[in-house]
Amino acid sequence: MQTKVVKFGGSSLADANQFVKVANIIKADPSRRYVVPSAPGKRFPKDTKVTDMLYACYDVAARGGDFSEMFEAIVARYMEIVRELGLKIEDRLTREFSTIRMSFMARAGRDYAASRGEYLNGIVLANYLGFSFIDAADVIFFGEDGKLRLKETCHAVKDRLSEVGNAVIPGFYGSMPNDTVKTFSRGGSDITGAIVAAAVNADLYENWTDVSGFFVTDPRIVPNPEIIRSITYRELRELAYMGAGVFHEDAIFPVRQAGIPINIRNTNRPEDEGTVITESAPEDSSPYTVTGIAGRRGFVTVTIEKDMMNAELGFGRRVLEVFEKNGISFEHMPSGIDTMSIIVHKDEFEARESSIIEGLRRAVSPDRIDIDRDVALLAVVGRGMRAQRGTAARIFAALAHAKVNVKMIDQGSSELNIIVGITNDDFETSVKAVYDIFVTQRL
Ligand code: ASP
Repeated sequence: MQTKVVKFGGSSLADANQFVKVANIIKADPSRRYVVPSAPGKRFPKDTKVTDMLYACYDVAARGGDFSEMFEAIVARYMEIVRELGLKIEDRLTREFSTIRMSFMARAGRDYAASRGEYLNGIVLANYLGFSFIDAADVIFFGEDGKLRLKETCHAVKDRLSEVGNAVIPGFYGSMPNDTVKTFSRGGSDITGAIVAAAVNADLYENWTDVSGFFVTDPRIVPNPEIIRSITYRELRELAYMGAGVFHEDAIFPVRQAGIPINIRNTNRPEDEGTVITESAPEDSSPYTVTGIAGRRGFVTVTIEKDMMNAELGFGRRVLEVFEKNGISFEHMPSGIDTMSIIVHKDEFEARESSIIEGLRRAVSPDRIDIDRDVALLAVVGRGMRAQRGTAARIFAALAHAKVNVKMIDQGSSELNIIVGITNDDFETSVKAVYDIFVTQRL
């Protein structure tokens, strides 16, 4: 039988109604053996996630303030779920809450406080499903340096899970060598899910959320964009870097290394197939040539001009050294015979501007330095571009048609992406134009 590890995000477990959906999904497929829950998330847009309630409550407790009311609001969220599901674990939860309250008073730490959201949700879900509950603090380990100890953790998870048929392991936290609790960064239950999947060498890691996968582009720009059916890790990284985020980046490493595909699914629409992320995928398996369109505003181009620059040995190195010394990493570096342009984040650049300009003057004595402060970058990403002729032509035709002036072009040598520099004002128009030509018109 196959083994699937299934992670459910906070909105998937926000109330009893959502718990019912989650249980139906799990019970529909016996290979969904190991379940990683987040803490209850928002039930409606203005609601507060339990994790945020815990942080706020603990902060009051740590200052010695009266946190009773805030604490009771958290208790109420769980008790309501338990009552509506008809579970007989109110006494157990009452005991857990009194331990947590005492630990708050003893200043057990913010990480401990936040982790209780997943811990309690794990207890409730395990009880509801009839699965074993495994405390993540017993199997997920961090080193003294605060970094995950992946090998040791995988051994512990594997050993522990080999004793049980099905289990719930709460997401988001583990333990330090001194037994205190430590959490991953926000959204870190994705990481726990990936670790558990790698540890048991799962056939699939399903990540259940409230959208039916990754969108081809930002739905705030293009309403109801298509869903990406299949994407490779490399494509995902290109898109994530350029601002398309739904999945915790650090969660990719453990499953990628183990060759386990990830399937992003929608708890509220389990019939949708979602997005599958794999190491490789056939170049022609993407229906639109491009896999995704992303981008960001807020860049600056610093153009350095000097006659006979191309003959000056070490010119590029000296320029980059100036940026490096100022702690700034560059995004792109298009160049001509006598010009070199460095594209950097605007806020980072402006914080060090005079030092950089001064440094450049000293390092390479340029004839001119021009600064363009109005740059957005558009990234068109797709494994299918390599096999298709004319992709770049179609992108630029679409932009020209939309009256967008292209400032810069950079095609990665992997032919996986084409980056285009435009003005900030043209950003949305550009995204729409490229989406329209490749996806709507399927040209
Ligand atoms: N509950 C945690 C958070 O809100 C972790 C997670 O949901 O993945 O960040």
